Amino acid sequence: MQYRRFFDAAIGQLKNERRYRFFANLERDTSDVPRAIHRADDGTEREVTIWCSNDYLGMGRHPETIEAMCETAKKLGVGAGGTRNISGTNNPLVELEAELADLHGKEAALVFTSGWISNLASISTIADLMPNCLILSDALNHNSMIEGIKRASSERKLWRHNDLAHLEELLAAEPKERPKLIVFESLYSMDGDIAPIGAIADLAEKYNAMTYIDEVHAVGMYGPRGGGVCERDGVMDRIDVIEGTLAKGFGTLGGYIAGDSAVIDAVRSYAPSFIFTTALPPAVAAAACTAVRVLKQRPDLREKHQRQAALTKHALEAAGLPVLDNPSHIVPVMVCDAEKCKAASDLLMERHGIYIQPINYPTVARGAERLRITPTPLHSDALIADLVDALVDVWKTLDLPFVESKIDASSVEAHCAYPDFRKAAE
Ligand SMILES: *Cc1c(COP(=O)(O)O)cnc(C)c1O
Repeated sequence: MQYRRFFDAAIGQLKNERRYRFFANLERDTSDVPRAIHRADDGTEREVTIWCSNDYLGMGRHPETIEAMCETAKKLGVGAGGTRNISGTNNPLVELEAELADLHGKEAALVFTSGWISNLASISTIADLMPNCLILSDALNHNSMIEGIKRASSERKLWRHNDLAHLEELLAAEPKERPKLIVFESLYSMDGDIAPIGAIADLAEKYNAMTYIDEVHAVGMYGPRGGGVCERDGVMDRIDVIEGTLAKGFGTLGGYIAGDSAVIDAVRSYAPSFIFTTALPPAVAAAACTAVRVLKQRPDLREKHQRQAALTKHALEAAGLPVLDNPSHIVPVMVCDAEKCKAASDLLMERHGIYIQPINYPTVARGAERLRITPTPLHSDALIADLVDALVDVWKTLDLPFVESKIDASSVEAHCAYPDFRKAAE
């Protein structure tokens, strides 16, 4: 096929830039989390420890979620049977939406087949339903939000990441009556930093803006009932639309928004990427609903999660590894080089049976490549000690720099000494 050269060239470019993605073939073991079997291309199998899963609390293998999925599949089958309109609305899904609305203290919720789709569908639809809307987007927003913003016909402006003064400057420049939608995340998944949500809500109130927050990396994990950082900070009622995923802290699949019933009904009625696609299977909805219910009652699991994450950070810092400081459960270790990041990941797997995938451009800026470690409550203190030894060995082997103390956000550029840092995100 003569067209093949286009694709070969595109892949060649990724390989040249050391950002061609390799997927690890892993089989998790529900009886021995966070262990998994890794199958290499030549078919050899070996046991590894996963240190980078977004199943942050292990709900993907919780006995109650597994049971809910199996039981519901036996009763209701494995597929939804259609779009929500064409016989795809099943009772587990209706219950799940009620559970999510309750979790966030909102009138209603709407479930999508992924968090990515929920952002794309909701942001574009909400903005398009407000004439002459201006979207104000945090510069480090996730791809799914950017896609939603791009899909909207509205004008958009970026505000510098978490920069309240810049956001206020942009808001103040607009007439009060112009519809404005502030779009941001509560917890940014690559740096692990947290937005000043209350202060953003203050600005929204002052300048008459609507607010939309992505709590994907916080739901299930923060707040007394797992309602996210908004719940923890006591500001759930001050944010108009809360978006979350069922695939990370809740361990299953799907995404959602929660908000006023009018907003939810409008997105339900106008978003093509909700209307024209098959609903989430009932068994998945039942498992997700169980995860939400279980986690509403498990502050102990949230505490253990934070404890293991803090222990991991302290142990890595004490060993001189360049941990990026942040107030969350995410542990970024800076490598600042695409090739070495991939090599570090390979060495961890080959020599130490540890799986941590390299995070390269465009997920992070060029020069800000890193290993992103996500301890769960099931990573024991002994596993943490093994991880530290393994990383120290890898750092020495690859001649990567050790540091005196953890790196704070303002010194990342200096540490990585890379002028283009963050440009890609903006
Ligand atoms: C993962 C992610 C999403 C998408 O959620 P999925 O359920 O995986 O599609 C949305 N927003 C952010 C910030 C994410 O990291």
